[in-house]
Amino acid sequence: MTDFSINYLVRENIKKMMPYSSARDEFKEASLDMIFIDANENPFDNGLNRYPDPQQNKVKQTLSEIKGVKPDQMLLGNGSDEVLDLIFRVFCEPKKDAVIALPPTYGMYKVLASTNDVELINIPLQEDFQPNVEEILEYQNKKTKLLFLCSPNNPTANSFNSKKVEQLIKGFEGIVVIDEAYIDFSKEESWLSRLNEFPNLIVTQTLSKAYGLAGIRLGICYASQEIIAVLNKIKPPYNVNQLTQEAALKALKDQERLKKEVMTIIGDREQLASELRDISFVEKVYPSDANFLLIKVDDADKRYQQLIEEGIVVRNRSKQFLCENCLRITVGDYLESEELILTLLKLQSNR
Ligand SMILES: *Cc1c(COP(=O)(O)O)cnc(C)c1O
Repeated sequence: MTDFSINYLVRENIKKMMPYSSARDEFKEASLDMIFIDANENPFDNGLNRYPDPQQNKVKQTLSEIKGVKPDQMLLGNGSDEVLDLIFRVFCEPKKDAVIALPPTYGMYKVLASTNDVELINIPLQEDFQPNVEEILEYQNKKTKLLFLCSPNNPTANSFNSKKVEQLIKGFEGIVVIDEAYIDFSKEESWLSRLNEFPNLIVTQTLSKAYGLAGIRLGICYASQEIIAVLNKIKPPYNVNQLTQEAALKALKDQERLKKEVMTIIGDREQLASELRDISFVEKVYPSDANFLLIKVDDADKRYQQLIEEGIVVRNRSKQFLCENCLRITVGDYLESEELILTLLKLQSNR
């Protein structure tokens, strides 16, 4: 990895591009006493009549203080979904390149591969839900530009072994994307602390889970300045709207609230796990490093349907590799968990 250069990985058409420069890119100090008649905005101030900061500098500054990563090593998007799509579009030539995912995992990697017309190579996790490092490294070739590691993984809820992840980052010749959507619930440390060691590493996080802001759509990608600069070339200029930037800033500044809510959810998760273990048709509750539990039941389709009839919606993951008869259950609030357990007890007595 010593002579690594992203130049070999970036698509030719993107290498040739200059970043699009929007009206607001050119004059960042909007607070200065200047007259802005450059962007065809409506002059009547309603708090939202101006285009938002295309580089979201305030949000990045705050993130930088929290995460210890420089602002020019971040790219923000309309949810992780947009960030992941930008990564595909920078590195993967349609109909030619490929990406590797490790099922069972997050469904968006497959959706994004399809929309970008890029081949998805599935290398299943092992029985213990850990990556098969040897197989992945053996399989890679000139076409495999991206490797997605979701840790903690959705839907299996476990974190990947850090030695294995390190072997993969070091051994994979493309870009390794570690999706840390659930990192705030995890015992493991974020890979952000080692970002600068690995020029081929991208870490993605989101405000959709622990921060409780799924509604605002804010995803974050952290990488080398080099990678971020290329992603910036193709980012739509105003992809993170003003309301989102304001809500994100407010939530990021309230780290106490984040810690409190995460602690509560983790406590409730353990309580729910132990109560689920007492249900006769629950065969297994997998350990969780996230805000959900994967459980194996006697008959997932049947139990899923019964829960729906009782007004409770969980996720049936039984069609996924290694997830036969598995349901994924988000840790709700205290009353929701109580309701779930009471319902399962009722189903248990009905047989
Ligand atoms: C929920 C989730 C996300 C979040 O995506 P957003 O677009 O930021 O809401 C990302 N990755 C995984 C694995 C998830 O489960």
